[in-house]
Amino acid sequence: MPTEISLVLSPQEAADPKIYTAKAVKQLGISADQLALVRILGRSIDARSRQIRVNLRLQLFIDPEGEPAPVRFDYPDVTHAAPVVIVGAGPAGLFAALRLIERGIKPILVERGKDVSARKRDIAQINRNGAVDPDSNYAFGEGGAGAYSDGKLFTRSKKRGDYRKALEVLHAHGADESILYDAHPHIGTDRLPRIIAAIRQTIRSCGGEILFETRVADLLLREGRAVGVVDRQGNRIEAMAVILATGHSARDVYKLLNSKGVRLEAKPFAMGVRVEHPQSLIDTIQYHLPSRGEYLPAAAYSLVSQIGGRGVYSFCMCPGGFVVPALTQPGEAVVNGMSPSGRNSVYANAGIVTEIRAEDYAHLTEEYGALAALRFQEEFEQAAFAQGGGRQVVPGQRLADFVAGRVSKSLPATSYHPGAVATDMYGWMPHFIGESLRGGFASFGQKMRGFVTNEALILGVESRTSSPVRIPRDPLTLMHPETDGLFPSGEGAGYAGGIVSAALDGERSADRCADYCR
Ligand SMILES: Cc1cc2nc3c(=O)[nH]c(=O)nc-3n(C[C@H](O)[C@H](O)[C@H](O)COP(=O)(O)OP(=O)(O)OC[C@H]3O[C@@H](n4cnc5c(N)ncnc54)[C@H](O)[C@@H]3O)c2cc1C
Repeated sequence: MPTEISLVLSPQEAADPKIYTAKAVKQLGISADQLALVRILGRSIDARSRQIRVNLRLQLFIDPEGEPAPVRFDYPDVTHAAPVVIVGAGPAGLFAALRLIERGIKPILVERGKDVSARKRDIAQINRNGAVDPDSNYAFGEGGAGAYSDGKLFTRSKKRGDYRKALEVLHAHGADESILYDAHPHIGTDRLPRIIAAIRQTIRSCGGEILFETRVADLLLREGRAVGVVDRQGNRIEAMAVILATGHSARDVYKLLNSKGVRLEAKPFAMGVRVEHPQSLIDTIQYHLPSRGEYLPAAAYSLVSQIGGRGVYSFCMCPGGFVVPALTQPGEAVVNGMSPSGRNSVYANAGIVTEIRAEDYAHLTEEYGALAALRFQEEFEQAAFAQGGGRQVVPGQRLADFVAGRVSKSLPATSYHPGAVATDMYGWMPHFIGESLRGGFASFGQKMRGFVTNEALILGVESRTSSPVRIPRDPLTLMHPETDGLFPSGEGAGYAGGIVSAALDGERSADRCADYCR
């Protein structure tokens, strides 16, 4: 039987297997040569005091026979099985495909974008000259919005599925073992593409199909049941059912469903700006040290406040990262963040967003119905675009200037490649968003001394935090209540937010879909 022990160590001790193993052996009262294997079960940093400690939970194996076998997944050959169409190869679609295979069903994944490596060239174009391909960008293409991201795998919705299994699947496809034990696991944008390509390989090797550069333009309905899709060339792909996992940026899909009379609902969400600080400043604030040194990771933060009864919070914080243009079509300005596995850029960025409620977009309801919140989101992105300098140069302002209501005379250097132009951000955004952000930043400055500084830059706009539309589904069957065979899934359906929660939702949808197809 393995034994579990906990150690509280300095960052240097925790980074050195020889040191923590020696301490573990000593604590257990055995000699080093009696130990067959040591595995890390949990790792977290406690930076609350000036003496930073790392909590390590270890599993020690004395008997080599007791060593755990590597986790394997049983993916049978489904080449000749009846198919289900999955629209969208983001985390929800990919995990739905793997689950369908486990249930003996052949997935046909239909993806508007390119495979994850071909996609890189189109992303480079956006950064280089602001040209966006509406089918291949930071949101669209194999791996979905999660592919060129930070790859943070933390989720608050662990109960919605088998969180551990999702991490094991990513590990089995090439993710570092540390995702299995870190308190806040992340993969990094440099490593995600290889993992996504390996998942593609698994799906195809089992007989699943993946069609790239195939944008779904219509849903095949027969007597009110979803029985397939039609691509924009008019090709029909028929199946037993359809899992719709198109993400929150596929506005054409919402518009299609709305026009076909598939019931949708407007959904509250959140919008704001992205703030970028020098990483060294965030390290100093969080670690209470002049510099973080060799053994501590780039520091992160998570902030939340209530301003006038409205929540303002940090979102998708990327330590050692980059701000990126996450738009999906011309005429809009959208920013987001990502970081590489080493989190070694000199910048730290995070979305700072405020709640958008039904009353905020009520004036659009008569004209846009269920798409009113989406329309409000579009208007915010278009307003930001109009303030920018073209070619994805986005509006910006120094943070202390924004809080004090001063226009910045110049802007600090930024990781955002297309660049920024100084504007009065408060002046052009909806008043309530500007007020909430101003109040939120001021309160964050009290929680983290030094956070509100003119060394920090805010960039507009952070608008794709979650879906502004919900595609309703029955809580038990997970099927659209009035459209049999249609399984709305993942972030675009309004039931997930983030890579892992979308993946778990994809798995759940696939399970219910497999039950339906039986
Ligand atoms: C830059 C960036 C950084 C992020 N960082 C993180 C992070 O660190 N951690 C985290 O948890 N989350 C992060 N997110 C959010 C995360 O990526 C999403 O929550 C997640 O990808 C949602 O998964 P999904 O499968 O539901 O949808 P998506 O990932 O959006 O996938 C939808 C897929 O459907 C395809 N599609 C859309 N319409 C059609 C159509 N008509 N026909 C065919 N295919 C279609 C799209 O091309 C896309 O591939 C980040 C997002 C971005 C943009």
